Amino acid sequence: MSENKKPEKLSAVKGMNDILPADAPLWELFENTVQSVLKSYGFQKIVTPIVEDTSLFARAIGAVTDIVEKEMYSFTDSMNGDQLTLRPEGTAGVVRAVIEHNLVYEGPKRLWYKGPMFRHERPQRGRYRQFFQIGAEAIGFTGPDVDAEMIMLCRRLWDDLGLDKIRLEINSIGNAEERNAHRADLIAYFEANESLLDAEARRRLHANPLRILDTKNPAMQDLVNNAPKLLDYLKEESLAHFNGVRKILDHNNVQYTINPRLVRGLDYYNRTVFEWVTDELGAQGTVCAGGRYDPLVEHIGGKPTPAVGFAMGIERLIELMKLSGEPQEPNQCDVYMVHQGEEAQMQAFVLAERIRDAGLDVVLHCAAASGAGSFKSQMKKADASGAAYAVILGEDEIANKTAAVKDLRGKEGETVQQASVPFDQVVDYLVDEIVGAHDHDHDHVHYHP
Ligand code: ATP
Ligand code: MG
Repeated sequence: MSENKKPEKLSAVKGMNDILPADAPLWELFENTVQSVLKSYGFQKIVTPIVEDTSLFARAIGAVTDIVEKEMYSFTDSMNGDQLTLRPEGTAGVVRAVIEHNLVYEGPKRLWYKGPMFRHERPQRGRYRQFFQIGAEAIGFTGPDVDAEMIMLCRRLWDDLGLDKIRLEINSIGNAEERNAHRADLIAYFEANESLLDAEARRRLHANPLRILDTKNPAMQDLVNNAPKLLDYLKEESLAHFNGVRKILDHNNVQYTINPRLVRGLDYYNRTVFEWVTDELGAQGTVCAGGRYDPLVEHIGGKPTPAVGFAMGIERLIELMKLSGEPQEPNQCDVYMVHQGEEAQMQAFVLAERIRDAGLDVVLHCAAASGAGSFKSQMKKADASGAAYAVILGEDEIANKTAAVKDLRGKEGETVQQASVPFDQVVDYLVDEIVGAHDHDHDHVHYHP
């Protein structure tokens, strides 16, 4: 061995998390549930690049926003000098793709995406520098119906996930003209109370006063609660749209509160905005947020096309699932192959492939740093794998052309079942035992026909 110092330990970039195998089943359950709910509403998947031109986000999200002011991971492509950014959110890229590929030429589209997003925030519980979102965008729809549909899709998802501590807040932020009328009064109101504004609010007072309503500063809560309400400035059309959303929600027993301060962090929203919020996660309680963004498609170069969307933060929802006591399914397989000796190893490979052909999951024991492993240590690994059965091959089994098949999950008190099964019957035996048991009492097994 060299006498050099051990290499320094490496760790992940601050604010960016590894998702370890112990959590993988929960993430999978979450993602599968969302995907099947999205499918049940007719949403189709779209995948866009993680890197886009910086100008796309600057234009789509708006210059005076948390994201564009201070949170973007932007860099110059050293090959050609292009200004690029790791996507901080998914909508801009989806809309760019929809325009680029003319996806709505044959009619409106319901789309969804998932993947990592990047924002240079101060890392804390529920706030990371790389985090995952699943989002949906309905592009080309004008009416309040699709706004309500998206909200109901989320309600179904929380139901399916067994999450009952999430509440809905909605608001309407009208159109540009209505926001301008409100804006003048809002600025006057804040100017009259300027001593109560924090530094960030002062900076935004003339650039983007609406965002002050979104402040998390506790000292400013009274001030923003008494500020002029945008809802009071809505004219007939915007009000009719908002009431249209509410009518469908009411008719379908969707509970909500109207939060006049809800304005959303991105510039491109109009009319309906909504957030799903929980009190279980401390300060980072918004698990899903969305709204209508009719101006955006035209704003980034497409034909005028109305749209509405939402994005949910997966880490926060996984945390909520853990808190709600959603039973964590352990990692599982159906069969663990135990073997000793070279001939047995060869036979184990052949049998394992045949068992997989039948749709069962098999873990084959492989040599580890600690050595090939005695029968005893292999059986321990078989137990720990969560397998239902161990298939055991040693010298005797090779000589007799039979495998020992051991039931690892026999009920407490029962004598452990172990059978001697000829090689050519092992697959049928396991399928009978495992799939048969499944038919009888719906035990958890991984059988994929
Ligand atoms: P906040 O006000 O908490 O900063 P936001 O308005 O910036 O949120 P959106 O851009 O609407 O958040 O993102 C939608 C969802 O994505 C949020 O409701 C949240 O669940 C999740 N999310 C946003 N930023 C982060 C982050 N840094 N880490 C983890 N999840 C996040
Ligand atoms: Mg933010």
